Order: sequence, then structure tokens, then C-alpha cells
Amino acid sequence: MNFIVDGMLGTLVRWLRMMGHDVKYSTELKDIELLLIAKTEKRVLLTRDLALFQQATVKGVEAYYVEGTNEPERLSELAKRFNIALTIDLENSRCPKCNTKLSAVPKQEIADKVEKNTLKHYDDFWLCPNCGHVYWQGAHWAKIRTTLKEAEEKLEKKVEV
Ligand SMILES: [Zn+2]
Repeated sequence: MNFIVDGMLGTLVRWLRMMGHDVKYSTELKDIELLLIAKTEKRVLLTRDLALFQQATVKGVEAYYVEGTNEPERLSELAKRFNIALTIDLENSRCPKCNTKLSAVPKQEIADKVEKNTLKHYDDFWLCPNCGHVYWQGAHWAKIRTTLKEAEEKLEKKVEV
């Protein structure tokens, strides 16, 4: 999906990009600019600002007011509202830093960009062709899976109610 996200939801932006969504985000954008971009680029505005959410509704911009205060809560409410899959496949991910689609790269191509130990332990790497950042499913991946699982559990509870 295509989103634009207000300045208060930076962490959520990284998650959505990793999940493959096209997310525009900048802390520099004023409310009026957020609304304009949402409308012209047909992006759903995600916000924690009730006044901004109401303005969007008045102007006919599709917007969603994010209620959750932590990532599992936020991800589960978005999954419920927009039918988003709570999975990350780096094959489809966008760069969490700059929103560009990642490309799988052969190990030798990024050998000078990551530490020797990382190179030794992992075989699959992805590169952002825009900012040059390299990604792999390292030790931090366990934490990512835990967060997604928590979001999934919250989602199941919501559906039952
Ligand atoms: Zn990037």
C-alpha cells in the first residue's frame, strides 16, 4: 500500500517499509503538505494527531488515526484496518531509511561493506541501490519476529471480539 506518515510515527515507518509498503515520511513536512501529498499521490495518511486526522476527513483525504502506543499494537491495528500481512520478506522490502526497493546481492559484492564475522555467518544480503545500506537477517531478526508475532496475537484477539 501507499502511505504518508506524520512526524510522530517514525518507527512505524521503518516497519511498514520493511513489510514492503511505499511510505513517504519526513519530519519537515507541515500538516498542509502532508494532506496535499496524500491527496495528489493517493496515499493513506497515518497520524497520531487528531486535529490533522479530522482535517483530512473534511478534505476527503483517506486517513487513519493510529491509537496504539507501541509497535505490536500499531501493527496489529493497521493489519486489521488495511488487511496487511504481518510478515517481512526482504525480497519485497523497501529500505527502512529511504523507501527504495531492496535488491538481493551476491555476497562478494558487499564484502567490503559488512564486518568479516557477519560475512562468515550469513549468506543472504540485500542492498539499497539508493543509499547503499546493506541488510541481512542477523541476530536482531529474532526481535523482529517477536514483534510481528505479538502483533499477530493482538490481531487474533481483536478478531474474536
Ligand atoms: Zn536506502
